[in-house]
Amino acid sequence: ELIGQRPADIVRKLMEMGQMLTFNQPMNMDVASMIAEEAGVKVEISVEKAGDELLEAVVQAGEGDERLEPRPPVVTIMGHVDHGKTSLLDAIRQTKVAEGEAGGITQHIGAYTVSVHGKQVTFLDTPGHEAFTAMRSRGAKVTDIVILVVAADDGVMPQTIEAINHAKAAGVPLIVAMNKIDKPEANPDRVRNALSEYGLISEAWGGDTIMVEVSAKQKTGLDTLLEMILLQSEVLELKADPHRQAKGTVVEAKLERGRGPVATVLVQNGTLKVGDVFVVGTFSGRVRALLNDRGVKTQQATPSIPVEVIGLPGVPSAGDVFQVVSDERVAREIADERAQKQRSADLAGQTKVSLDDLFARIKEGSAKELAIVIKADVQGSSEALAAAVEKLPTPAVRIRVIHNGVGGITESDVLLAAASRAIIIGFNVRPEPKAANLAEQQGVDVRLYTIIYEALSDIKAAMEGLLDPTL
Ligand code: GDP
Repeated sequence: ELIGQRPADIVRKLMEMGQMLTFNQPMNMDVASMIAEEAGVKVEISVEKAGDELLEAVVQAGEGDERLEPRPPVVTIMGHVDHGKTSLLDAIRQTKVAEGEAGGITQHIGAYTVSVHGKQVTFLDTPGHEAFTAMRSRGAKVTDIVILVVAADDGVMPQTIEAINHAKAAGVPLIVAMNKIDKPEANPDRVRNALSEYGLISEAWGGDTIMVEVSAKQKTGLDTLLEMILLQSEVLELKADPHRQAKGTVVEAKLERGRGPVATVLVQNGTLKVGDVFVVGTFSGRVRALLNDRGVKTQQATPSIPVEVIGLPGVPSAGDVFQVVSDERVAREIADERAQKQRSADLAGQTKVSLDDLFARIKEGSAKELAIVIKADVQGSSEALAAAVEKLPTPAVRIRVIHNGVGGITESDVLLAAASRAIIIGFNVRPEPKAANLAEQQGVDVRLYTIIYEALSDIKAAMEGLLDPTL
């Protein structure tokens, strides 16, 4: 009926093709396509699919011809603690953003973009290789270029080496920023020498690693550094297609008073627009508003540009893929299916979080984050423990202290931990009897310590799969 052919003619054609069918029998897709195309009808095959398979199909259907255009590089700053990562990020932001732009004052949304000779560079605001690798372990490849900050007065340190290895493992090119060049003790040649032992040979010495001397404090060398980033990005020929539906990665997400759930999405392909329908993690929705890194409302964001998205029904996780789709129903279906899967995993008890099975979950890829509730006998201890725990070098998962307080472990602590899939650490405190029962019932892992070091070493051991099983 649709292709305007009489059933008898189709049955005859089928016979010619060796298909002995009557007209109320099903035929396969290829045969149907051939017959329709013979009748001059273009065929698009649509298959009922579920969830992520459906998403894949919808996205592919929208793909068509690519029209690639150059896009700005996305840069992550890494290096040893105190070598000046944060100072460098702030210095670049201050000198480059203030220059007469609307909004002027930058908002910390997890990433920002600066303009250099009319070209743009985007910086991710969370320095360090832990965040970088945590994202990467979730499959999100966001960074194009790594800036390795090495303090010229201090040289190559353990985290410098870690950063080099993480960048190498990801296959991301690296530019060295030799910082604190203003200091009298600065000795850039000594640093060049030390770096050469790790395969980073400066161009001045006949190698191919770009090294720039900078001072984040005195704001010198920043322009050269930015120019080198642009140069490197030309070599990389970074491209994306701004003409299609957007796909990006969540770099930061939070619940804000008055604004509700807000996520910073780094657009990686396509153009994100107000009104777009999207799926991110277990949520679907429609973009109500977009705000740029100056906190100014904007109508759209092109590749490599970070924007805050308003209109989410919940808070996604950093590293989640943000995908625009054309059909609201499809978006909802996909999100629902993912939520369903998560719920059934919850019911199957897979999400009971404990330190004992942390390593196994890291290995199977289901642990992205270890959430912790800390209770201690005095304020000082709870804060010290929280700070120390968050500082643990844990490349595979992000540690997040969701609550820390003083006093015994209460039912409310347990409920919070159960809802957030967190473990509880008690320092010189015990659970109240009712809380102990609830923890048992909810399968919340409660660990009690009297020595901070032991708590830290247990967490570390758990990450590495070396924790002695508890009895
Ligand atoms: P991060 O841990 O790598 O983020 O390092 P910070 O940015 O917090 O810097 C550590 C310390 O080094 C701070 O006290 C900064 O003021 C100082 N610092 C950073 N950059 C420079 C610089 O270029 N020159 C000097 N003299 N000090 C710097």
